[in-house]
Amino acid sequence: VEAHHRRRVIVLALAGLALLATRPGSAAEQAPRPIVQGYEYQLRRLTDRVHVIAQAEPFHVQPLGNVTVVEQQDGFVLIDAGGSRGSAERIVALVRRIGSKPVKAIVLTHWHADHSLGAATLMAAWPGAELIATRATARHLAGPEMAMYDPAKEDAIREQLTATANRFAEAAARPCLDASERAGFARTAAEVRAHAADLAGTRVALPTRLVEAEVRLDDLAAPIELMPAKANTDSDLIAWMPRQRVLATGDVVVSPVPFGFDAFPRSWVAVVDRLLGLNHRYLVPGHGAVQTGAGYIVRLRGFLADVAGSRADLSTQVERIAGGTTWLRRWATSYWAEPIAKSAKAEGKAP
Ligand SMILES: [Zn+2]
Repeated sequence: VEAHHRRRVIVLALAGLALLATRPGSAAEQAPRPIVQGYEYQLRRLTDRVHVIAQAEPFHVQPLGNVTVVEQQDGFVLIDAGGSRGSAERIVALVRRIGSKPVKAIVLTHWHADHSLGAATLMAAWPGAELIATRATARHLAGPEMAMYDPAKEDAIREQLTATANRFAEAAARPCLDASERAGFARTAAEVRAHAADLAGTRVALPTRLVEAEVRLDDLAAPIELMPAKANTDSDLIAWMPRQRVLATGDVVVSPVPFGFDAFPRSWVAVVDRLLGLNHRYLVPGHGAVQTGAGYIVRLRGFLADVAGSRADLSTQVERIAGGTTWLRRWATSYWAEPIAKSAKAEGKAP
């Protein structure tokens, strides 16, 4: 039963089963969205001209991607878009708190739903904004991975999410689980319910500007360099703000539990080497707390190099990620160890 929960949630969170496009009126028929402590986005100023919108707690089974907000002279650039209509509406409110400039561009670090599904709502709020992504990301967004988000499937997806939340709530009551797991399941049940409410009215937006090589979004005060990379997906886009020395990596870096699904560990090692050479002041991961030093990515590089070299001791990696917490051990296994081993095998077979 546990494995079944995990698989289902993985699909929900990472393949992005999250999208619902709404029939008129269906959002109004929903129960009010619960506010879940730790799940909500918070705004933090990092430096002159760079802010981060992130979830408060470091690990979520059903996560929302961090959003980096860069203030250029003629408008804001957002790195990632949130994971639903509801989360994007809260992003709009937080960006307006920073200043009255419009958003001029939204950059997608990769296609996964928890980073991309807010884009349509953001573009409705700022109709002049470009949506920038790699060509492969655009292909995924338009492709079978997102076909399940047909508006006709909204009710089915909501029912699935509700059933998932109910199963997590049941798990939270199991006496055989330890306290960290019961608390984790209870919180996750609430988060999945909040997410289901956020999904009403969500639509896939397709990129309006495709990049295939490095691109600079120039500005006198806060230029942004966009670097395509093959690491967490076949086509990640990493943002580097050289003036502020802030790096926004998308899910190339995720803490405390990295994500290993359909990834490219061999190529990922070289990407982390490149990140290490930038000497960032702040690193905004796809999920988790903003990082200052390089300690975490050095450790991640070690994990990846071992996986790519077929010498990984994955149970040791899981223990180091989990830090003795049963709840994190469960997800370090199902979000990292199992999928990254599969990814390494697939990458090894690739021509
Ligand atoms: Zn993500």
